[in-house]
Amino acid sequence: MTNQTSRRQLLKASGAAIVGGVGLAATSGTASARYVGQPIYTTENTWVRTGPGTENGVRATADKYTGGRIVDGPVDEDGFRWWRCQMNGDGDNGRVAGWIPNRNFDPADITYPSLGYISSDYYDDRGGRYHSAVDIANDYGTPVKAALNGTAYRAYEEGGCGNYVYIDHEDGYRTLYCHLQGFSVSHGEYVEQNQQVGTMGSSGHSSGPHVHFEVNRNGSEVYVSGTAGEEVHSESGVAKNYADL
Ligand SMILES: [Zn+2]
Repeated sequence: MTNQTSRRQLLKASGAAIVGGVGLAATSGTASARYVGQPIYTTENTWVRTGPGTENGVRATADKYTGGRIVDGPVDEDGFRWWRCQMNGDGDNGRVAGWIPNRNFDPADITYPSLGYISSDYYDDRGGRYHSAVDIANDYGTPVKAALNGTAYRAYEEGGCGNYVYIDHEDGYRTLYCHLQGFSVSHGEYVEQNQQVGTMGSSGHSSGPHVHFEVNRNGSEVYVSGTAGEEVHSESGVAKNYADL
């Protein structure tokens, strides 16, 4: 556990630099710009309302750092700018769509690669080591999509990742998608964010269909936000919450 603690502190200390580098091309200079289709995450506990405006009912509460995606808006009402967002669910409540105010969320850079629930989160104890990724579980064949634009490669690792795709991005970032059933890209193909790169499977060292989603930078693991039991949907934003670890 000592090692885990030191890694947490290391990540926390370097968090700002890590966050700043992901997806620079997509967000540079436009941090406040919002648009339909954008991946986002909440920056505080947020009421998801049935309509734009405080007179509308609360459909659900999206906890701080819940990922989502803008699907409609904006509407200016009651002094706020509102956007309709599809938000990830927790273990008790599935995905929910509703209206949240502009000030309660930020744009995300990377997106979750699949629809499913998080079966193992980052720092999950693996017998003296920790899980440096999030696992998203669903049925065989569920689409697995690129978390960010980049160049995709197909690979195989016996007894480990099995069939997997890795995508090289700007600034030394690499995302990995392990235990695939099949590939949807050719080796060296350039892919856009949200483009399907494979299908969920259980190849390699795996006890059931899921995608092991890992982010590296220059060969070192990068924290990926998400809580075990959380229901995530592909194309929803991954929170940039390194600083609060
Ligand atoms: Zn895993």
